[in-house]
Amino acid sequence: MKYLAEMTFVEVQGLGPEALAILPTGAIEAHGPHLPLLTDVIIARGMAASAARALQARGFAEVVVAPPLQITPAAFAKGFAGTLSLEPETATAVLVDAILSLRRAGFSRVVLANAHLDPGHIGSLHEGVRRARETHGIQVTFPDITRKPWALRLSPEFRSGACHAGRFETSIVMAERPDLVRESLRTGLPPNPVSLSKAIKEGKKTFEEAGGPAAYFGFPQEASAEEGRETLGVLGAILADAVVADRDPVKGE
Ligand SMILES: [Zn+2]
Repeated sequence: MKYLAEMTFVEVQGLGPEALAILPTGAIEAHGPHLPLLTDVIIARGMAASAARALQARGFAEVVVAPPLQITPAAFAKGFAGTLSLEPETATAVLVDAILSLRRAGFSRVVLANAHLDPGHIGSLHEGVRRARETHGIQVTFPDITRKPWALRLSPEFRSGACHAGRFETSIVMAERPDLVRESLRTGLPPNPVSLSKAIKEGKKTFEEAGGPAAYFGFPQEASAEEGRETLGVLGAILADAVVADRDPVKGE
C-alpha cells in the first residue's frame, strides 16, 4: 500500500502516467457516546485501502492513497462538543485545490472515498467534482454511496437511513480501530431505528431535531468486527467498479 504522505517527492515524480490517487473524505464529528469523533476518517481510510487492493487486483499497477480531508461540513452534529465544521463553499474550495494538487503531482485520475454522509458535505463534494471536471478537465471518480446503484449493495440498516454511528459504522471502527471503541458503553446502547435520511428529506437540520439526542442512529449493539471487514470489502469493490465504469463508459448510457 502506498500512502502519498509517506512517500518522498522523488518517489512521486517516479510514478507512471497512469497512476491513480484515492482521496479519503471524512469528518471530525460526534458519533454517539461509543465512537470517536474521527469515525468517518477511519472508515474513509479503510475504504480507500480496500479500494487500492481491489484496483491492484484488477491490473491498476499504481494506486496511491492521499491523506484524508478531515475537517468538512458537519452541520447536523454542530451541537455536540468536539465537532468541527466547515461551510460547504469552503469545503468545495479545499476539495478543488486538493484535486488540482494531485493532478499537478501527475495523477491521471482522482477517486473520492467518502464516508461522511452529512447533506451539506455531500453537496460540497458534488460541486467540487463538477468544477474539477468542467473547469479544469480533471478525471474524477466519485461513487456517492447514498445513491443508486451503490447504496443497494450496502446493509439493510444503511439503506433504512438509520446510518450514523449504528451497526454499519460501528462495525467498521471495530474492525479498523478496536482500541477506539468504548465497548462498555456500546453494549448498553438501546436501538434508535429513526431514519436520518428520511428526517433530512423532511427538512430537519440537526441530529437532535432528527431524533438522535445522543448523536447515533441504528443498532450499535449489533455491530461486529467481522461485519466491518465484510463492509470494507464491499466499499472497496464499489470504488473499483466506479473507476472501471468511468474509464470504460458503455456507449449509449
Ligand atoms: Zn459517520
